[in-house]
Amino acid sequence: MDQWRDAAITCPRTAPELAPELAGNLNRFHFQRVQEDTFTPGEIMIVVMEPNATDAQVEATVQRVESMGLKANVIVGTERTVVAAIGDKREHFKESIESSAGVSAVVPIAAPYKMASREVQQEASQIRVLDFVAGAGEVGIVAGPCSVEDEEQILTTARAVKAAGATGLRGGAFKPRTSPYSFQGLKEDGLKMLAAARDETNLAIFTEVMGTADVDLVARYADVLQVGARNMQNYRLLEAVGAAGKPVLLKRGASATMDELLLAAEYILNEGNDQVMLCERGIRTFEGHTRFTLPLASVSYLHRKTHLPIIIDPSHGTGHAYMVPDMAVAAAAAGADGLIIEVHPDPTTALSDGYQSLTFDEFDHTMTRCKAVIDALRAVDA
Ligand code: PEP
Ligand code: MN
Repeated sequence: MDQWRDAAITCPRTAPELAPELAGNLNRFHFQRVQEDTFTPGEIMIVVMEPNATDAQVEATVQRVESMGLKANVIVGTERTVVAAIGDKREHFKESIESSAGVSAVVPIAAPYKMASREVQQEASQIRVLDFVAGAGEVGIVAGPCSVEDEEQILTTARAVKAAGATGLRGGAFKPRTSPYSFQGLKEDGLKMLAAARDETNLAIFTEVMGTADVDLVARYADVLQVGARNMQNYRLLEAVGAAGKPVLLKRGASATMDELLLAAEYILNEGNDQVMLCERGIRTFEGHTRFTLPLASVSYLHRKTHLPIIIDPSHGTGHAYMVPDMAVAAAAAGADGLIIEVHPDPTTALSDGYQSLTFDEFDHTMTRCKAVIDALRAVDA
């Protein structure tokens, strides 16, 4: 039919020369093509470089891709570098690029999301900010109040959660509230309080940015920009946080599918920002005994489909403080790359989400239990 289809058909011939994991992907792709005859031209091709390709060859490939009017994103793996060519398909793209020095193969990517997919990057991504590390075997713990309320509240919480093992501090300064009459957050004053807590504790600050107009301001104070569930499909905001150059925690929309979550992440990655973490925070179902329904199977599914770290939010995912410790432990057992948990010095007086917030003692005990599970599984899996 055309060169896009040819690329699929020729995959098995090039497959044995590639890294085993990549060869597996190519064979799978070929299998689907032959069995189902459903290949439709994608908008992205992956240029797989030879294992010993030089930096100059990678750069020359990037320039050739760009000279054809496509965007080039370079992904450096431990074994190989790949160049993702993004844009509408070009005549003779495969033939032209595949003949370049240092290029091993040109392969179409089947998943609707591209940069986020395991097909493009087999190795798990790891996000590292200050003391916080998540992904590729590391579990990052973020804890703190739903909202920043005052200096003492955030400082005492920061000290307590750090002592219990957290490496990130959460706290909303811009709050997306269901009612316009509810507490909306302290805005820049709240951001300053978070920054002061970071200065004392070295905890990475996770805080929500609600609109494009606030991205610069929030990015001046935050270490990780949180995109909330209500904004998961605010595409201009996703582009803006992508361009801000800071790590992003993207929360799943309460009614969003996994593909929609991954495509939302793709907007951020497509801006050249590869520091993206996905957050399962529960979805809306017919069930009323929890605030949302928390699907922990998301961890297994997302680990299969994407290299991005998966963070579980058992606080919003259940809406009841008594359920949070068990779901935190379950998420750790499922292999989550991190947890984000609401903790408050006195949940009964919290200005938002007190009913799902843990006390310092409850959080400390939860961390002890999570650590026991993680250590036990590491010992078995080693
Ligand atoms: C929050 O983290 O406080 C929050 C508002 O979360 P979500 O966007 O998941 O509702
Ligand atoms: Mn909250």
